[in-house]
Amino acid sequence: MEITKENRKWLDDMNLSHPIVIAGPCSAETEDQVMKTAHLLKNTDANVYRAGIWKPRTRPGGFEGVGEIGLPWLQRVKEETGMLVTTEVGNANHVELALKHGIDILWIGARTTVNPFVVQEIADALKGVDIPVLVKNPVNPDLPLWLGAVERFQAAGISQLGVIHRGFSTYNSLHYRNKPKWHLAIELQKEFPNLPLIIDPSHICGRRDTLLDVSQTALDLNYDGLMVETHIDPDNAWSDAKQQITPAQLAQMTVDLKIRLKSSSKEEFQRKLNMYRKELDLLDSNLIDLLKDRMGISEQIGRLKHNENVAILQSSRWADILASMTEAAAEKGLSKEFVEEIFKAIHVESINIQHNVKN
Ligand code: PEP
Ligand code: MN
Repeated sequence: MEITKENRKWLDDMNLSHPIVIAGPCSAETEDQVMKTAHLLKNTDANVYRAGIWKPRTRPGGFEGVGEIGLPWLQRVKEETGMLVTTEVGNANHVELALKHGIDILWIGARTTVNPFVVQEIADALKGVDIPVLVKNPVNPDLPLWLGAVERFQAAGISQLGVIHRGFSTYNSLHYRNKPKWHLAIELQKEFPNLPLIIDPSHICGRRDTLLDVSQTALDLNYDGLMVETHIDPDNAWSDAKQQITPAQLAQMTVDLKIRLKSSSKEEFQRKLNMYRKELDLLDSNLIDLLKDRMGISEQIGRLKHNENVAILQSSRWADILASMTEAAAEKGLSKEFVEEIFKAIHVESINIQHNVKN
């Protein structure tokens, strides 16, 4: 797949002075709720109004969206506020109805992206129409599956493209509703720098107090914009009540967010940046040397255990290493979670190496 500047024309042509802001309720509930939220958003930085018309609920019995009757409400939003409008489509019928009602941008939900059959059905329904399509990441952290969906739209003739990062489900996550796993989005940007990348902090956080922080991280990573669930009365929303904010809170959020420049040509900035980067390169290559030495010792231990027919995994020893390293990390002001992850990876590799020792 090749993604060029042509594929982000829909966004570049908007000539925005700030990252794009897509805002609006998780679900369209009533005409009154849709219109009141829209009129308040009109006075903020929001450029595109979002509202779910068909809602893919995890379990039946939840609110599954108002359906087709909500589409004229979005048309009214467009007429009365001048904002573009977007909604989620989950099958060919949704596509037909959305197009009939002049929806400007379509998005593909996380539960749809996981299913190539459905993605293909939607792409086929869009043949001959060049409307921007934004693909949310699949619920599971699978970059090829995410990109595969984008490719299906491109192959169907959709040239106006973008992706939305809404995080990945994990079992028992305390802090996030859907873990961001930033490295996946960074990898995607590295491979496709022209593909517009939008953060959806609402579904990542699942709560209000961390929205700003996650949005700031995204802007620091050069994301092109945000999609934030915004509701006139969040506490009483019919879906995703805990994560929605009011239009006034959204306005405050866009004031608080620091918008970063892509780069700076200032000589002093470039000089310092190069210096720090050289230092990092040196430290990184030292890290590789250290890891090489450490794995060399693991191999020796592996040989020793092999010769004495002793089991590789020594749980208590491993628990001691982890405890002392995380304690040392805390003393030095490093995050415990970060150091734990590194040592878990080192331990797995070290076991692999010991396992492969044969003689
Ligand atoms: C939504 O945007 O309201 C939604 C259902 O999102 P996701 O597909 O990311 O769960
Ligand atoms: Mn939602």
